[in-house]
Amino acid sequence: MAEVYKNLIDGQWVESSSGEVYENRNPANWDEVIGIFQKSTREDVEAAVEAAQRAYRKWRLLPAPKRAEIIFKAAQMLVERKEDFARDETREMGKILPETRGDVQEAIDMSFFIAGEGRRLYGFTTPSELPLKFQMSIRIPMGVAAIITPWNFPMAIPSWKIIPALVAGNTVVFKPATDTPLSAYNFVKVLVEAGVPAGVVNLVTGSGAVVGESLITHPYVKVISFTGSSEVGKHIGSKGASLFKKVSLEMGGKNAQIVMDDANLELAVDGATWGGFGTTGQRCTATSRVIVHKKVYKKFLDMYVERVKKLRVGNGLDPNTDVGPLINESQLNKVLSYIEIGKSEGAKLLIGGHRLTGGEYDRGWFVAPTIFADVDPNMRIAQEEIFGPVVSVIPADSLEHAIEIANNSKYGLSSSIYTNDIKKAFIAIRDIYTGITYVNAPTIGAEVHLPFGGVNQTGNGHREGGHTVIDIFTEWKSVYIDFSGRLQRAQIDTDEIVKVE
Ligand code: NAD
Repeated sequence: MAEVYKNLIDGQWVESSSGEVYENRNPANWDEVIGIFQKSTREDVEAAVEAAQRAYRKWRLLPAPKRAEIIFKAAQMLVERKEDFARDETREMGKILPETRGDVQEAIDMSFFIAGEGRRLYGFTTPSELPLKFQMSIRIPMGVAAIITPWNFPMAIPSWKIIPALVAGNTVVFKPATDTPLSAYNFVKVLVEAGVPAGVVNLVTGSGAVVGESLITHPYVKVISFTGSSEVGKHIGSKGASLFKKVSLEMGGKNAQIVMDDANLELAVDGATWGGFGTTGQRCTATSRVIVHKKVYKKFLDMYVERVKKLRVGNGLDPNTDVGPLINESQLNKVLSYIEIGKSEGAKLLIGGHRLTGGEYDRGWFVAPTIFADVDPNMRIAQEEIFGPVVSVIPADSLEHAIEIANNSKYGLSSSIYTNDIKKAFIAIRDIYTGITYVNAPTIGAEVHLPFGGVNQTGNGHREGGHTVIDIFTEWKSVYIDFSGRLQRAQIDTDEIVKVE
């Protein structure tokens, strides 16, 4: 019998008021139940938000370096449990073990990095236009933060949000994706064991429609940090705006890798293979378009197909596997339907294009790595986010043409260019409109200490990662301290020659 996992509300592990639960199954083998989780209700969310609101009164007063000490401890515990957590993650999410180790590592990196912010959280000072007056800006915490996350990075993405929220002095109600609650549980349990006080972090599992919706509309919630699809992000953004909440959105992508005629083609193929098929293509930064200069187009395609042919698809726990399953049946159907769309649009299917069946494949959501060539930049497979192992290759006449194709997207998260010409590299950095650009590296591979996010329908102007994430979870307060002992009027008394004492 699979273990039953509970919600965390006000420091207690509790069942949902609904009395209902749901099963979390392994996408590589649906006979395996990973755990039983709470199907939570609006009442559960209310209890969690109220607990977070109460806990905020004390947590915000704990000096930031002290809050950060708890996070340093949690980071160390993540290091010690990394292997177990990675295995749990592969079982519930499907990606291969080296990648889930990377996911836990990202949570470790983020925790150590942002815990350091506990001794920074910098504001600034600036001179006054009046004498005997001091002024500065400081950061203040906001209150209860609602954290809503997707399933593809089930520990890394929560850490990008929860850790900075806490170090900045906020309290948290966390709703993870329904498909990956075990990694959320593992992460929250570490925070509790490291010493995060009761009510400061609360975990409520369940659906977006019930748990997510109740959370984003709760009057005590001051800031919402969401990562997921642009469709849901748009809904949360407009709802949050109408309720005057601060909303940070990280959403979809349709990332392009450009391959110039002077590029190292071996390297470019390595990049397009890892970027396109790593995490089974289920990354917001996945390479889903490869734009290749026509002079090397044919050669690149031959090499790319040869490489992708060798990818082994299977259970992510098997060390021989390169590409795991898709997360669930609806994602499988979505990917298969896009393959049909690509064929009907007239793109040339070079490899893959079907569900894998037989043996272990019959009990999971496996699709063969798929490459379409001769794709027109305006085809749906070149415009819409597929979120699976499907790559569209598009020919281009020149650097300018390649950049124009890359920018022809409603998204704008990541991009990459392979070239040995420094001039071309810098032109691409200047002209591709995305939040991230790589040179001679794939579109995936962000590190925690640089700003992370995208333009257009990928984001709404915020940046996670780096020191910029602190802006999401704090408000600025400007402070003016007049020690002249008289009324000094800004903009009015500035021309007077004042005797400086
Ligand atoms: P999703 O939008 O379906 O769900 C994301 C989260 O929102 C889940 O926890 C879900 O339960 C919740 N949710 C759904 N409806 C809600 C509602 N009405 N109110 C509140 N919450 C609600 O996305 P997904 O399928 O879990 O993840 C895949 C998507 O995430 C892709 O589009 C991918 O590009 C995107 N993503 C973006 C980034 C990034 O940083 N830009 C990173 C990873 C994934």
